[in-house]
Amino acid sequence: MDAALARDWMRAAAEAIAAGADGLTRLDSAIGDGDHGVNLHRGFTAVVAALEKSPPETVSEVLVKSGATLMSRVGGASGPLYGSALRAAGKALPATPEVQPADLVTALRAGLAAVRKLGGAAAGDKTLIDAYGPAVDAFEEAVAGGADLAGAAGAAARAAQAGAEATVPLQARKGRASYLGERSIGHQDPGAASTSLIFGALAEVA
Ligand code: ADP
Ligand code: MG
Ligand code: MG
Repeated sequence: MDAALARDWMRAAAEAIAAGADGLTRLDSAIGDGDHGVNLHRGFTAVVAALEKSPPETVSEVLVKSGATLMSRVGGASGPLYGSALRAAGKALPATPEVQPADLVTALRAGLAAVRKLGGAAAGDKTLIDAYGPAVDAFEEAVAGGADLAGAAGAAARAAQAGAEATVPLQARKGRASYLGERSIGHQDPGAASTSLIFGALAEVA
């Protein structure tokens, strides 16, 4: 992956979130406060603008800048969580114009660790971690098996989607949805759904 591809990823993520914003908001209306689509649409629109204004020349800088933009532009849980994930992922990468799939495994893991540290959620708590965790595992497994970026990203996107769908029967233990207790059961977690869109965007551009 080079910086241009990383920028394409963020642009594709912004497009997927724009197209899916109503759906994300519907999911968040069922078990949260109904702003997830709006939050992320605003955030990723700002990310695309920031990257176009002064395009970074390393993948690391693309992700750090995107993360910082989400942190400063998105209120709610998802801004700081996605922001810190992208920032940590970017900081874990070498400052070279191009990075290898194995570097991205390390970066994606660093992003996941940042989300865990900030939000305190574990697998099965019905959060974006339930899509992000399986996606990183699938990406890593594919890279270990010799897959290129496109192959690994495709595997990650499928795992993220399956992980998001698997949040439906779970009871939320973190975030606003946890206030609903058992009434959070039977709905897909909005953050897991948006994580699936972001990995889908990576698979699309890779
Ligand atoms: P808010 O809930 O503050 O309105 P959003 O609606 O933008 O923020 O984002 C909600 C999503 O954030 C949830 O669906 C969930 O995936 C994720 N989330 C919330 N709290 C946590 C947490 N502690 N750890 C991980 N993810 C979380
Ligand atoms: Mg919300
Ligand atoms: Mg909110």
